Amino acid sequence: MVVPVYNEEAGLDALVARIVSASQAIFADRFELILVNDGSTDESWSAICRQADRDPRIVAIDLSRNHGHQLALTAGLHHVRGDLVFVLDADLQDPPELLGPMLDQLRQGYDVVYGQRIKRNGETAFKRGSASLFYRMLGGMVDTHIPRDTGDFRLITRRVVDQLNAMPERYRFIRGLVSFVGFNQIAFPYERDARFAGETNYPLSKMIALAADAVTSFSVVPLRFASHLGMLFGLAGLVSIMGIVWIWMRGGTVEGWASLAALILIMGSVQLLVLGVFGEYLGRMYMESKRRPLFIVAEVRRRASKYETPRGIPTPPAADEPRENIHVTG
Ligand code: UDP
Ligand code: MG
Repeated sequence: MVVPVYNEEAGLDALVARIVSASQAIFADRFELILVNDGSTDESWSAICRQADRDPRIVAIDLSRNHGHQLALTAGLHHVRGDLVFVLDADLQDPPELLGPMLDQLRQGYDVVYGQRIKRNGETAFKRGSASLFYRMLGGMVDTHIPRDTGDFRLITRRVVDQLNAMPERYRFIRGLVSFVGFNQIAFPYERDARFAGETNYPLSKMIALAADAVTSFSVVPLRFASHLGMLFGLAGLVSIMGIVWIWMRGGTVEGWASLAALILIMGSVQLLVLGVFGEYLGRMYMESKRRPLFIVAEVRRRASKYETPRGIPTPPAADEPRENIHVTG
């Protein structure tokens, strides 16, 4: 189980209790819960550490600062070792108890079972409306089929996680990347609960940034706006020239200044807008070209457990050895 955590101290204990009981019912001791602290400014990290010190199946990862939801999740996906990975939010909007039914679905031959919201409780009409508009717009611009009304709530297999971890990009829209990976994927309709505690960490500005990441990482359609606009304005120019000639031939004149000024302003703004879109892509190319690490880990706390990991990953130390404090960069 992988959970990114940002300022969720109020709900953390309830979250861990529900995930652990849901996982235990199915996997007994053969699971690990990775809690990634994304530079929280409240007491989330100490709450996470308390949990990790108490239960050897819980792994606490502290990022060096706030990296944002998608990169925190990426850090978790790099550390998780299971053959199946269950991704959920820390605010209990995605019920952990759905693990069982989603697993049944997965066993019918799927690699990805993604939660699809049929109902969102406790979210404003504006959030619902903007999310729905966004998915419809995205669908029109992108070749990869990115399902509507999904978040990062998913159950995925190891080979999908490996593919995701092999993608080096910084501007990550993980639900899109999962679609991009392919294999057999199926929607799992569910009702999204209201937040258990605290407030959303996705204000409008972060939603717009995520939408921009989604569009630019999956589509170059906006780059074509320039040529489309060029053709449109060219056509408009042609029509108005014909109109002017027609009026001139009939001995009239066209009054100029105000319409000319308006035209210049419109043309100027369209050109700047198009430049801005180009700049958005160029800027992302520049940032990607630096190839900086996607996330920086300050600390990993994992109490020793007897849990044997498959796939050749070294087993953690025995129970009486002190817990490890690893400092690595991702
Ligand atoms: N989150 C994070 N880093 C951030 C913002 C959010 O790790 O900078 C986590 C947060 O703790 C939660 C998940 O991302 O587990 C989704 O955030 P939130 O619930 O605020 O978003 P919403 O559900 O309102 O879209
Ligand atoms: Mg939430």
